[in-house]
Amino acid sequence: MTTPVQDTIDLRREMVATCRSMNSSGINQGTSGNLSVRTERGFLVTPSSLPYETMQPDDLVEMHFDGSYVGRPPSSEWRFHRDILQKRSDINVVLHCHSVYATTLACHNKAIPSFHYMTGIAGGTTIRCAPYATFGTQALSDNAIVALEDRLACLLSQHGQISLGVTLESALWLAIEVETLSRIYVQALTLGEPPILSDEEMERVITQMRQIKYSMSQQA
Ligand code: 13P
Ligand code: ZN
Repeated sequence: MTTPVQDTIDLRREMVATCRSMNSSGINQGTSGNLSVRTERGFLVTPSSLPYETMQPDDLVEMHFDGSYVGRPPSSEWRFHRDILQKRSDINVVLHCHSVYATTLACHNKAIPSFHYMTGIAGGTTIRCAPYATFGTQALSDNAIVALEDRLACLLSQHGQISLGVTLESALWLAIEVETLSRIYVQALTLGEPPILSDEEMERVITQMRQIKYSMSQQA
């Protein structure tokens, strides 16, 4: 169970900085992608179609769990931000982007298997790929919720990826890791389908990651 974050100017500035880091790290471009943080009254979410370079703290939209909002129109994906934050009391941050290699796999409806031990950072033996649904729809949100069960990340068919975190820093870290892992997987596939680590080995990996708080995604 996480504690909601207070809607302050500092939080809004941190969100704007995270959005700009999404672009500068190479996992996002143009007006793709969106970001939300749980607050005491609901959640703050990025506005729709506003480039991050010009976005200001006041442009972030205050949303409530009933779908009402204060400010400019919220991200077209507010439904999956709301539904994930509502269902997952273990996280505070939802980050979505169309990072190139994760989206390459998603265009083939391909999940990321345990071809590398780091697949375990998302909490399981695979990073699932949610079936396709039109952007901005309840159907897309429903598919994402299923793909994210017991996981901190998933791919979205013919679309992109979602990464979750307790903090803005950990969600951004995970999104970059998912992209790196996707890139290695696409590269590995050029030599043929790579061997997969067994479920028992992945269980050991995930236990070890939790025990030693191995990565940012394990930090509370
Ligand atoms: P928004 O600008 O409405 O957040 O849309 C971007 C996007 O990635 C839709 O899936
Ligand atoms: Zn998108």
